[in-house]
This record gives sequence, C-alpha cells and structure tokens, in this order.
Amino acid sequence: MRYDECSKCGLILYEGDLKYIVSMHIVADYDGVIAEDISDDEMERLIAELETSDKELTERDVHQELAFILCKRCKDVFVKDPFVCKKSSIDKGGGWKGELH
Ligand SMILES: [Zn+2]
Repeated sequence: MRYDECSKCGLILYEGDLKYIVSMHIVADYDGVIAEDISDDEMERLIAELETSDKELTERDVHQELAFILCKRCKDVFVKDPFVCKKSSIDKGGGWKGELH
C-alpha cells in the first residue's frame, strides 16, 4: 500500500488519510535599489563572481520551490506559527498585507 510520511513528525499517512501539501514559493525581493557605496571595481568583481559561480546555487538565491506533506495536527500547528517564532500567523483570513516589489 502506498503511503506518505509527515515531513514534520514522521507519521505514516496511508492512502485515504487526511494530509496536506505545504507548497513554498520563495522569491528574492529585489526592490530595484543597488547600494550606492558599491564601487565600479566591486560591481565588476560581483559580476565576474556570478559568471563563474554554480548556476543552480545562484538560481536558488533568486527562486526556490519547496513542498512538504503534513498530517492534520502538524498542519494546524504550522499555520498558527509557520516560522516557530511564537507569533501568530499573518493570515487572519484577509491575506498578506505586505508590499510586493
Ligand atoms: Zn505530523
């Protein structure tokens, strides 16, 4: 029988069990501003570093997608405090109130 495992607690979740997929889409929040104190030499060095760096690692710094399977108990805990920082979730039904660049 096919089964999944809760990414948080390890509970085995068999076919037909209630389970949740937490999908994360992480994107660098570039605001269009480059620090003024970067010299031309420093900028050239950064560009050269990018050209020689591992493209996959560089792409992960800009965009990354992750997915986890959670059981109901772990999902309920996750939505209350996804970053385990003892703050309640910012989604109170009205969605995120931040600003996208
Ligand atoms: Zn769990």
